[in-house]
Amino acid sequence: MSKVLVIGCGGVASVAIRKCCQVSEVFSELCIASRTKSKCDELAADLEGKTETKITTAQVDADDVDQVIALIKEYQPDLVMNIALPYQDLTIMDACLACGVNYMDTANYEPEDTEDPEWREIYNKRCEEKGFSAYFDYSWQWAYREKFEKAGLTALLGCGFDPGVTQAYCAHAKKNEFDTIDTIDILDCNGGDHGYAFATNFNPEVNLREVSAPGSYWEDGHWVEIPAMSIKREYDFDCVGQKDMYLLHHEEIESLAENIPEVKRIRFFMTFGQSYLTHMNCLENVGMLSTTPIEFEGQQIVPIKFLKALLPDPASLGPRTHGKTNIGCIFTGKKDGKEKTYYIYNVCDHQECYKEVASQAISYTTGVPAMCGALMLLTGKWTKTGVHTVEEFDPDPFLAALDQYGLPRSESYDPVIVE
Ligand code: NDP
Repeated sequence: MSKVLVIGCGGVASVAIRKCCQVSEVFSELCIASRTKSKCDELAADLEGKTETKITTAQVDADDVDQVIALIKEYQPDLVMNIALPYQDLTIMDACLACGVNYMDTANYEPEDTEDPEWREIYNKRCEEKGFSAYFDYSWQWAYREKFEKAGLTALLGCGFDPGVTQAYCAHAKKNEFDTIDTIDILDCNGGDHGYAFATNFNPEVNLREVSAPGSYWEDGHWVEIPAMSIKREYDFDCVGQKDMYLLHHEEIESLAENIPEVKRIRFFMTFGQSYLTHMNCLENVGMLSTTPIEFEGQQIVPIKFLKALLPDPASLGPRTHGKTNIGCIFTGKKDGKEKTYYIYNVCDHQECYKEVASQAISYTTGVPAMCGALMLLTGKWTKTGVHTVEEFDPDPFLAALDQYGLPRSESYDPVIVE
C-alpha cells in the first residue's frame, strides 16, 4: 500500500501510470501532476472504473521548486516519479530532499538553455576533463549523493530501458554470467514503421539533441569521441531483421564505466532509417535543432521547440506504428577461466503495446521499467540510500518484474559480435 506522485503526463508517464494501475496492491494511490492538468484529468478519466488505484490529479510547474515542495507537502507521497523532462531533474530532487521523500527518474539532467553562461562554464570544463561533449552527464545529479545519503533517502536515476534495463542487464551479466566482463555493446533497434516521413518516438527535443550530438564510447579508461553518425554497423536483430545502426553517446556508458571498472570497452548503437537521417541532417543544417532563442516577428522563438510543435506528437504514433523493437546488451568476458559471449535482450511489439496501454513500444519500453523500478523501491527490494543508477542494485528482482509485467528477456550464448 503506497502513495506515489508522478510528475509528467506525456508518452512515457502515461504508460508508467497505466502499468502502476495494474498493480494496485502496491500502487494504492497515485497523484498525476503535470504542467498541463487537462492531460492528467483525461488519463484519470480513462482509467476510472478500470483500476483499484485511487487517482487524483494536480497542476505543477516542476521548474519551480516551491511549487513541487507545496505539492509534495500536500499529497505526502512515499515516492516521487519524475517522468517529466530531464530539465526538471534537479528541481524535483531538491523538492524531494526538502520534504524527505524518495526520488526516481528516467533520464539524467540536462539544461533547457544550453547557452546559459553559468552552465556553459561548467560544461566547457567538463568537456575538457572528461572528453565527451554531450549536453547531459551525471555530474549534476551525482553531486547530490551525500545529501541523499545523509537524509536516508534514495534517488534512483535513469530507470527506463536505456538507460535503465540495459544497466540491469549489465548487473545481471556481472552477477550471474561472468567472472570478468571485457566488452559491452548496447544495441537499441526500433524496427517499427509509423508511416510518416519523419517523426520522433519520444520527446522530439530530447531525442533530436541526443542523436545529432557527436558519438562517443568508453575504451581503456577514457572516452573516444567521434563525429555524429560516423560509425555505422549492420546487425541482424532477432524478430526484426537486418538494420543499419550508428554509434551514439549514451548516458549509461558514463555510469557503467564507473560501476564496472574492469570493462575495457562500452559502446552504444541505435538503428536509424535513411529517411530519418536525411531529415535530421537537413533540419540541423538550417538551424531547426537549435535551442538558442531567435527573434521572429517580434517574438522570441526557440527553433527546436517550434519544430516540436510541427512534428507528430509521439503519443499519437501508437495506433499507426507496426513492427518490433529489440533492445539489449552483448557481453564478452570470462567465466571459470574460459572466454564467453552472452546476449540478453527484449523484443517488444508496437501493436501489442498499443492494445494493452494505448501507446507505441518506445514509451512502453520506458514506462514499464519506470513502474518496475518504483515497485523495487516501494516493496523494499531496493533499499540503498544515496543517488544511484540501476546497475548498482540487485538485478534479479527487477528482471523478474520486467519478465512479469511485459518486457521478458531473451538470451543467446552464441551471438554475432559487433565488429
Ligand atoms: P513528453 O514530452 O511526451 O512528456 C513530458 C511531460 O512532462 C509532459 O506531460 C509535459 O507537460 C511534462 N512537463 C514538461 N515540463 C514540465 C514542467 N516544467 N513541469 C511539469 N511538467 C512538465 O516526454 P516523454 O514522455 O517522451 O519522455 C519523458 C521522459 O522520459 C524524458 O525525460 C525522456 O528523456 C525520458 N525517456 C527515457 C528513455 C529511457 O529509455 N530511459 C526513453 C525515452 C524517454 P506538457 O503536457 O505541459 O508538455
